[in-house]
Amino acid sequence: MHKNTICLHHGYRADPATNSVAVPIYQTTSYQFDDTAQAARLFGLEELGNIYTRIMNPTCDVLEQRMAAFEGGVAALAVASGQAASAMSVQNIAQAGDNIVVSTDIYGGTWNLFGNTLKTMGIETRFVDPSDPENFRRATDDKTRAYYGETLANPKLRVFPIAEVAAIGRELGVPLIMDNTAAPTLCHPFEHGAAVIVYSMTKYIGGHGTSIGGMIIDGGNFDWENHAARFPMLTQPDPSYHGAVWTKAAKGLGAPIAYILKARTTMLRDMGQAMSPFNAWMFIQGLETLPLRMREHCRNAETVAKHLAAKPGVTKVIFPGLEDDADIKKRNEAHMAGGWGGLVGFEMAGGAAQGAKFIDALKLLYHVANIGDVRSLAIHPWSTTHQQLSDEEKIAAGVTEGYVRLSVGIEHIDDIIADLDQAFAAAG
Ligand code: PLP
Repeated sequence: MHKNTICLHHGYRADPATNSVAVPIYQTTSYQFDDTAQAARLFGLEELGNIYTRIMNPTCDVLEQRMAAFEGGVAALAVASGQAASAMSVQNIAQAGDNIVVSTDIYGGTWNLFGNTLKTMGIETRFVDPSDPENFRRATDDKTRAYYGETLANPKLRVFPIAEVAAIGRELGVPLIMDNTAAPTLCHPFEHGAAVIVYSMTKYIGGHGTSIGGMIIDGGNFDWENHAARFPMLTQPDPSYHGAVWTKAAKGLGAPIAYILKARTTMLRDMGQAMSPFNAWMFIQGLETLPLRMREHCRNAETVAKHLAAKPGVTKVIFPGLEDDADIKKRNEAHMAGGWGGLVGFEMAGGAAQGAKFIDALKLLYHVANIGDVRSLAIHPWSTTHQQLSDEEKIAAGVTEGYVRLSVGIEHIDDIIADLDQAFAAAG
C-alpha cells in the first residue's frame, strides 16, 4: 500500500468483537488469560499477546503497527512522550561506561536529556557538528553504542546527513537513531540507512495539539549479532528475563525485532513510560490525515518563508527550501523528497528586544512551546525552549538572540501573512 493508504488502513480492519470500523479505545489495564498454560506462554515470550497495558494494549498496537509500516520498519513501541522515546532509544543499548555520538543540531530538551540526565547515569554524550559527517567517525570508539540526529533539526532547520552518517555507522557497527519529529511524510529515514526512528507524536502526527506521546520504530535492518561486542545488552543473557538473549528470542519469533522486543519487555516493563490507550486513539485520528495536513503545512510555510525573505528588517530566513549553499541544497533535496516542512525561522535586526515585541504583537499565531499543530505557532527559543542551555550551547544549536521560530499551520495563507505583517509593524 502507498503511505497515505497505510495511514488509514494498516493493522486494523474491523473490531473482532463489534465490527466497529473506527479503532476502539481499549481502556483496560489487563486481559483475561485463556488458561494457565497460555499465561505461561505469554510471559515466556513463546506467544505474543496482551498481558498488561503498561507493556502492550490493542489500541496502542494498531498505532504501533501503522507507524512501523508507514516508515518501512519491522515493529514499533508507543511511549508516553517524545522525551521517553529518545531516552529509551538510547538506554535500550547503552549503559554506564558507554557513549553515544549526537548531533549538535537537536531540540533543547534532547540536549539536556543526553548532556545532563544520561550523564548522571554514566552514559557519555559526545556532541559533534553534523555539517561534516566524518565528525561522527572521529568521535567513535569501542564504547560507542549509537549515533543520534534530527532529520530537520529544530530550530536550525538544517537537514541531517542521514545517508552519510548511517554509512559510517554501518562500517563501524554503530546504529543511527533518527528523530523524525519535524519531517513525517517528508523524509523516511530507513530509506537512507537509519536503524531506529523516534518520534514525538505530540507534534505533526497528533497534529491538533491535544496529546503528548512518543514512538520508537525498529528498522529491523541492523545486524546486532555481527557487532556482538558492542551490543551485549542485546546479544548476552539478560538477567532481568531469565537469561534471555534478545537476538535469539527475536529469531525464535521469526522477525528481526531484537531491539524493540527488548525495549518493550525490559525498558517499558521496568520504567513504565507507557502511552495511554486514549492518547493512542488520538494519534490514530491524527495519522489518518497526516499526509493531507503536511502538504498544506509545507505549502503555507514556503509562502511565509519567501514573504519573510523579502521583508526589510529581517536579516536572515532559515528554511531548508531557501538554502543557497549548493552542497547543503543537494543534501536537503536528497533527504526531503516530500517537501520542506512547516517550520520557518528568522532573525530580526533588532535582536531579542524586537523579537519579543514581535511575538507579543501576534494575534492569530499562538505563542506556545510546541510545533506541528494545525494552528500557526511562534516562539523565541533563546528565552524559552533553549533557556536552560549555556549561551555557547544555544549558539551551537543555532539559537541566536533574535531568532524567532514559526510553526506554520494550515489556516488560510492570507490570514497568516496578515498577522505576521501587523506584528512586524508593531515591533517597529
Ligand atoms: N524531538 C523533537 C524534535 C521535539 O521538537 C520535541 C518537543 O518539542 C521532542 C522530541 C520531545 O517530545 P515531547 O514533547 O513529546 O516529549
